[in-house]
Amino acid sequence: MPDTPRSVVVIGASQTAAVAARTLRRRGFDGGIVLVGDEPHAPYQRPPLSKELLEGAAEDSDAALLSEEWCRDNAVELRLGTAARRIDTAAGTVELADGTAVPGDRFLLATGASARRLPGVAEGDERIIHLRGLCDALRLRSLLRPGGRLVIVGAGFVGSEVASTALARGVRPVVIEQAAVPQARVLGEEMGRFCADVQRAAGVELHTGETVASVRTGPEGVVVTTESGLAVEGDAVVVAVGAVPNTAVARASGVAVENGVLVDEHCRTSVPGIFAAGDVANHRHPLYGRWVRVEHFDNANKQGMVAAKNILGRTAVHGEPHWFWSDQFGLNLQHVGHARAWDRLVVRGSVAERDFTAFYLEEGVLRAAFAAERGGDVMAAKELIARAAAPDPAKLADEDVDLAELAEEAAAQPALAGGN
Ligand SMILES: Cc1cc2nc3c(=O)[nH]c(=O)nc-3n(C[C@H](O)[C@H](O)[C@H](O)COP(=O)(O)OP(=O)(O)OC[C@H]3O[C@@H](n4cnc5c(N)ncnc54)[C@H](O)[C@@H]3O)c2cc1C
Repeated sequence: MPDTPRSVVVIGASQTAAVAARTLRRRGFDGGIVLVGDEPHAPYQRPPLSKELLEGAAEDSDAALLSEEWCRDNAVELRLGTAARRIDTAAGTVELADGTAVPGDRFLLATGASARRLPGVAEGDERIIHLRGLCDALRLRSLLRPGGRLVIVGAGFVGSEVASTALARGVRPVVIEQAAVPQARVLGEEMGRFCADVQRAAGVELHTGETVASVRTGPEGVVVTTESGLAVEGDAVVVAVGAVPNTAVARASGVAVENGVLVDEHCRTSVPGIFAAGDVANHRHPLYGRWVRVEHFDNANKQGMVAAKNILGRTAVHGEPHWFWSDQFGLNLQHVGHARAWDRLVVRGSVAERDFTAFYLEEGVLRAAFAAERGGDVMAAKELIARAAAPDPAKLADEDVDLAELAEEAAAQPALAGGN
């Protein structure tokens, strides 16, 4: 492996890959860049797939990330419609499923994640949809007919967004969720109840505490039955029960894998010369002192950038608290940080009026925040979380206290995690 990279091969051609390619060129890298993607499409964004694109308010081209023109002008080669199988660092190649090989001396695994399957659910029927890619979204869109009925398994963020978009298209959504409230794992019971109330008030038929037993298709549509005996009929079913990291290439290349590709804070894997970033990466996060794998747009961007800089010999770190948003039922929801065992939930604003921020505190330390229609609060909370600040709960709840000032006070203290 040469000391300075001469050619970079990125496996996966999506959000992380696009950001990494842009960063490499912006940082003056003039060697070869090849993006290998198994989808037939040039890199595109996934968030619109459950929102604007599904609704029909946006087209495929609105989600595009790298134009043909940009790739040509920046000498970035896209090898699309073919999967990578293995990286051979000794030979300096990536072996592709079509039998060809792409030469390189630095490699970025940006293989993302795939929609989790429910055991026993048949593949191949076009009315059973696992929403992950553009083709899935376009197929689902074609099945959303006004007056129709859509069954959605899973009331996580993607399932909830699909329910919201279905309503906007005049389709009646029926959601089946295993937990007692939606998004309980991340938000806890109280905020999960808020999400359930929002859904039901909007017109979603939400069944919680129900485990799917079978999904059957027939000439009339689909029937989803649960272990308790509930049977729900619809024109189609969306299975939105999370995602699993795509680790096959990493495993075949001798890279350490555990709930994704294990990477340090610099996005370096266990094999020199191979980096990983985005949804596939289980990242040793300096703020939390443990490995964390998330499936967020912002994280894909940040890690894609950090990996690219480190490929070029820098020692950049992604140490910010994780952040994501979700648009559903006319609300902009945002979440920042990670709270695993909070002992206090402090609310600023009004949950009833759907205009609030909830702060999750563990032994007085702010670990996470969840907000409806309050992006500004979330950005201030991000600063506080990054510094493991222990703000006065009364000030957090007091609308007259400027959160940005609390964040500035905390910023005067040294940050716990490194920046980029
Ligand atoms: C419907 C939907 C809505 C979302 N909405 C939001 C949102 O509102 N907010 C938010 O923060 N995040 C959202 N996300 C998450 C966000 O889109 C992801 O975090 C982001 O796409 C991750 O980018 P990535 O490049 O790491 O992985 P991916 O986007 O999964 O891309 C990986 C690419 O690699 C390809 N690949 C896999 N294996 C191989 C191989 N062997 N060879 C070649 N190519 C391979 C895959 O097919 C895929 O094209 C959403 C995701 C989905 C699916």
